[in-house]
Amino acid sequence: MTTTLAAAWWTRVAARPDRVALSYAGRRWTVAELDADATALAAGLAQRDVRAGDRVVLHLQNVPAFPLALLALWRLGAVGVLANPMYRDRELRHLLTDSGAVGVITSARDIEALQPAGADTAVGWWLGVADDDPTLAEVVAAHAGAVVPEAAVGAGDLALLTYTSGTTGPPKGAMNTHANVLATVERFGAWIELTEDDVVYAAAPLFHITGAVASGALALVGGASLALSGRFDPAEAVATIEAEGATFTIASITAFHAIEQVPGAGREQLASLRAVYTGGAPVPQASIDRFRDRFGVALHNVYGMTETTSAVVAVPLGVDAPVDPTSGAVAIGRPLPGVGIEVRTEDGAPAVPGEPGELVLTGDQVVPGYWGNLDASARTMPSGRLHTGDVAVVDADGWVYLVDRLKDQINVSGYKVWPREVEDVLYEHPAVHEAAVVGRPDEYRGEVVVAHVVLAAGRSATPEELIAHTRSRLAAYKAPREVHLVAELPKTATGKIRRDDLRG
Ligand code: AMP
Repeated sequence: MTTTLAAAWWTRVAARPDRVALSYAGRRWTVAELDADATALAAGLAQRDVRAGDRVVLHLQNVPAFPLALLALWRLGAVGVLANPMYRDRELRHLLTDSGAVGVITSARDIEALQPAGADTAVGWWLGVADDDPTLAEVVAAHAGAVVPEAAVGAGDLALLTYTSGTTGPPKGAMNTHANVLATVERFGAWIELTEDDVVYAAAPLFHITGAVASGALALVGGASLALSGRFDPAEAVATIEAEGATFTIASITAFHAIEQVPGAGREQLASLRAVYTGGAPVPQASIDRFRDRFGVALHNVYGMTETTSAVVAVPLGVDAPVDPTSGAVAIGRPLPGVGIEVRTEDGAPAVPGEPGELVLTGDQVVPGYWGNLDASARTMPSGRLHTGDVAVVDADGWVYLVDRLKDQINVSGYKVWPREVEDVLYEHPAVHEAAVVGRPDEYRGEVVVAHVVLAAGRSATPEELIAHTRSRLAAYKAPREVHLVAELPKTATGKIRRDDLRG
């Protein structure tokens, strides 16, 4: 039994060294070449004192350095901490502090600006990835041919630390073990009938759980080829799918909406795709229909969370998902083998078929907990039972539908925004007296961030100024698209702002 991702990779290296493992911008790496580069990088990281169990932050777009770094870290028994490369000071600082990371791999051009975020943390080094050759070529060349001893790690050790915006407080690090990631690779790989002839196009970002596991690890240790094209761009996505003959991809519905807008893209360009999945946000039936009409490609719904190491419920390949007659929701699918699924009503009783309640999940894809946060782990996954915070319905035939979210999170193009964080930044502006942030449905992005602001007496600020203020302090997708200046905000008797009343 394979128990670690490194062992699974080595099985592939031994069996099929000459197959293509990775492609980027027309360049290709065979399994053997990628293994040699990853081993050299592992030696370079070992020289920087990276040891088994150490955390290293990957603050990168979908470039070759990403899979190289993952393989190198797994080889050392070290842990990849996934960070959105749009993260700037406060967001990055939280990750660095919370994870206790020993180093950061990021774009070379960003290092100087980002380094202050590492002050007074355990970060001992920063490694820069060049824009024009994002392969960490210098480190790889410096350690070519180096021998790296096998690390003493097992199935229960961490492979990834993936930060999630939970329902309370700052982002928490979900601890994805080797066993968790291998389970997703095996189960989801079987679900989509993955073979070594497949080419996985990573449309979803590798810095998010779905990109990292249901594209990156799936291809690397599942035995397929991984095609990358940097930061998502719809025209580039179409071109890469066509050039590399991609057979599988997974992304948020926003990515597919964007692909629809690419001039000249049609059936011919996407003809190689045989399995296409979309998740992370609600999928409208109209979008599925439109995509099929235009490209002849069926979008299959898939549900997963950071805490479930990506896909746990998915529509079987080649099957049209039913629509829930009550809520109008397209089914997210059926549980993957080994995934335990329960729906609990508000009083904690099991729901009957058709009755909504909180989705509770079990199985070996569920993380053992949050990094350094026993309280949150006990609250969210007591005894390994993950309380998803999502409201679901299971029908008499076993189809699962996601009706609504319990939480207040805003979902912008698949990126999750925590309103309080945006409010905190608004409050930093001297003219802001009170602020409340909510999501508003948006056809293109899923949702957009809208802020309602009461100005301080005697102060003035325009909505544009306030948007600029948040944009300079937060990743762009978190900044409100609209700021409404209002005289007062609705509140409860105890003075809490009622966000619900603002959603309107
Ligand atoms: P994350 O941990 O960032 O991947 O976010 C997980 C959340 O995304 C879930 O708890 C759901 O609220 C939402 N989500 C994931 N997949 C779907 C889907 N197929 N349809 C609707 N919402 C989804």
